[in-house]
Amino acid sequence: GALARTILVTGGAGFIGSHFIHYWLGRYPHDHIINVDKLSYASSLDYLKGLSPDSHTFVHADLAKEKVIHRTMEQYKPDHIIHLAAESHVDQSIQSPCNFISSNIVGTFHLLEEARKLWTKEGRLETSRFVHISTDEVYGSLTKDDDAFSEESSLLPNSPYSATKAASDHLVRAYWKTYGLQTLTTRCSNNFGPHQHEEKFIPKIIHNALNHQSIPVYGNGEQIRDWLYVLDHCRAIDAVFHRGQVGEIYNIGAQNERRNLDLVSLICHILNEMKPDKELKDYKKLITFVEDRPGHDFRYAMNADKLKSELNWKPDYPFEYALKSTVRRYIKMMEEKE
Ligand code: NAD
Repeated sequence: GALARTILVTGGAGFIGSHFIHYWLGRYPHDHIINVDKLSYASSLDYLKGLSPDSHTFVHADLAKEKVIHRTMEQYKPDHIIHLAAESHVDQSIQSPCNFISSNIVGTFHLLEEARKLWTKEGRLETSRFVHISTDEVYGSLTKDDDAFSEESSLLPNSPYSATKAASDHLVRAYWKTYGLQTLTTRCSNNFGPHQHEEKFIPKIIHNALNHQSIPVYGNGEQIRDWLYVLDHCRAIDAVFHRGQVGEIYNIGAQNERRNLDLVSLICHILNEMKPDKELKDYKKLITFVEDRPGHDFRYAMNADKLKSELNWKPDYPFEYALKSTVRRYIKMMEEKE
């Protein structure tokens, strides 16, 4: 029969984690997922609807609480760990950085430490994998003319969020170098898709447009982000987990750079077609420029050649097609809420 593995996934009630669990169990139906999540304001158990208790166990726990994580590891004895949990919103990290230190740094530390202890005790230190999900934001910001970030780029984080993610990346590396924990790190560009909290850029544009509220764009809207559909990110994590070299870092991205203002305009254009508004005529009228975020990174762009050439990954979802289907899902969700 097929190999049945117990995989501990952290942050599985959040945006990417929830997609990841559905994706994984669709592809590896014999596996069992232990989903550890503290249920922050950004998560929802609704995202996990339809999962069978035979393949998914939800554990409500905060990674920053050492004892709880210890008990969870002892109880379920996972074969592998895929670590997605993090406080994830840059603006929140500017308002209240403390939670970011505790979840992203202390939380990652406890998870590494408990993994090391359990797998050492069970003689599985050399076979159990720990995949750490990080972000392009650890590299800092690019100018228009810079080359895209590679895995060799320096870590120059600019926000409390990215600084805590960079710190966790360093801890993960140290656990590989010092203890031989079988770690792999991924750094992905901006994700989009259903299940994102309304505070994030794309759902906020749609929400505000449909509610006739102004659509805020930071500064002059010239900033550039590199966008990837969430399921392509899940596929990349799968590739790294199964085929990645232990101790390595893999950038994930689809070379899909967009200026923020162009993305907002494109979404307004899609909305004009999908849900024409007689009164407003064009949702673009709602675009409002607001004061820039402090320390705002100008441009992110990922070079994912290593992932493509060594692990044979390539993006599957064409950008505009995935964006349209995402917009459609948010419209439906917002209509259901009314
Ligand atoms: P999210 O905020 O939607 O989900 C994060 C989940 O982690 C939430 O369900 C939250 O409750 C949980 N969590 C946070 N702190 C926790 C703790 N201390 N203990 C237990 N659970 C905790 O964020 P997301 O966008 O799904 O991001 C998931 C991961 O992917 C993060 O590590 C993030 O840094 C990384 N990432 C995100 C993007 C993106 O564009 N969204 C891009 C690259 C990397």
